[in-house]
Amino acid sequence: MVIKPKVRGFICTNAHPVGCAASVEEQIDYVRSQGDLGEGPKNVLILGCSTGYGLASRIVSTFGYGAKTLGVCFEKAPSERKTGTAGWYNTAAFHQFASKENIYAKTLNGDAFSNEMKQQVIDTLKADLGKVDLVIYSLASPRRTDPETGEVYKSTLKPVGQDYKTKTYDTDKDLIHEVALEAANEEEIANTIKVMGGEDWELWLNALADADLLSENCKTTAYTYIGKELTWPIYGQATIGKAKEDLDRAASAINNKMSDLNVKAYVSSLKALVTQASSAIPVMPLYISLIYKVMKEEGTHEGCIEQIYGLFKEKLLQDEPDTDDANRLRMDGKETNDATQAKIKVLWDQVTQDNFHELSDYAGYHHEFLKLFGFDIEQVDYEADVDPLVDW
Ligand code: NAD
Repeated sequence: MVIKPKVRGFICTNAHPVGCAASVEEQIDYVRSQGDLGEGPKNVLILGCSTGYGLASRIVSTFGYGAKTLGVCFEKAPSERKTGTAGWYNTAAFHQFASKENIYAKTLNGDAFSNEMKQQVIDTLKADLGKVDLVIYSLASPRRTDPETGEVYKSTLKPVGQDYKTKTYDTDKDLIHEVALEAANEEEIANTIKVMGGEDWELWLNALADADLLSENCKTTAYTYIGKELTWPIYGQATIGKAKEDLDRAASAINNKMSDLNVKAYVSSLKALVTQASSAIPVMPLYISLIYKVMKEEGTHEGCIEQIYGLFKEKLLQDEPDTDDANRLRMDGKETNDATQAKIKVLWDQVTQDNFHELSDYAGYHHEFLKLFGFDIEQVDYEADVDPLVDW
């Protein structure tokens, strides 16, 4: 099969196995080029391990610290006629690279919100690894089925308190336009918290503790985006931000409940970048195209792997890491500092349909977007016939 990108709106509906493997390898090479990282985690559980920040966390764990990893993701397998999802191919490639190094890696594909998946993880850990010393919570999902009631909750991306009008960029139509976003009602806010808040993170930690699978001094982190004024109305202070605030509550509940094991739970705030999750959020493609421009000029641009490498080394694995007032680990300073935000604001105010491609780094955004699905990578031959049936 010759595989070319099929972009529909904010998503690409197919993926290239060779390209995905190349992009996983590039991240592994980055971690290896950092030299000896010293002592780190031994057994890591990664929830949301197949793309974006979760995949980067898995790569840093294994290729930075030699850790054994058990991953959970929700990806589609390929068929004769249809490619698998990018996360499927990323996982297959990750397994191959880990096996070359003789490092244990297993991945369970299914719904991480379910009780069945929690049980499968517990059974696999008991059989293969024993206790874990790091749990990464990196799920990004638009819906969640409550494991007790079976009710399906959907998240919404809406402002809270008042309607909001702003600029956005429609990647499909190459069009800057205004969007009017209606304020969420109480039910929409509550449902978004149910999907993307801390409840499931707590359920995971409780299930692992009850099964005696958390080692003493185990660390756990869930990822958040806080951002600044430009994104607050649609992110930080919007429905998704309310859900992310609930992670702070969950972190302190975990810390209190598991103090006898000295479990340390942190929310880690990361920078905005192109992932499958962020490209679905209105305003984000425009904002990210502008910050790419500014941060590349400043020499501070980073992708998932640089962010997570920095997080592990400088914060998460430290005994007493620096935290903000809410006990969060902050890796977003290069984006959210006042000087950088001021430059982005100038561009934001100026940007129109006519000057968008000149003022922004949309070329860089689009390249990164295609790369998420294994496309637009220099060394890959996209005319070649490739077998979509890759397994792990
Ligand atoms: P992503 O879409 O690249 O990854 C999501 C992962 O979750 C994938 O591995 C997917 O398979 C898995 N997943 C989704 N639903 C699942 C389910 N029901 N069961 C099992 N696995 C499931 O997203 P990302 O951008 O890497 O986001 C990860 C976390 O990082 C999120 O909490 C997000 O809010 C946060 N974050 C993202 C950004 C950003 O700009 N992308 C910035 C800061 C923080």
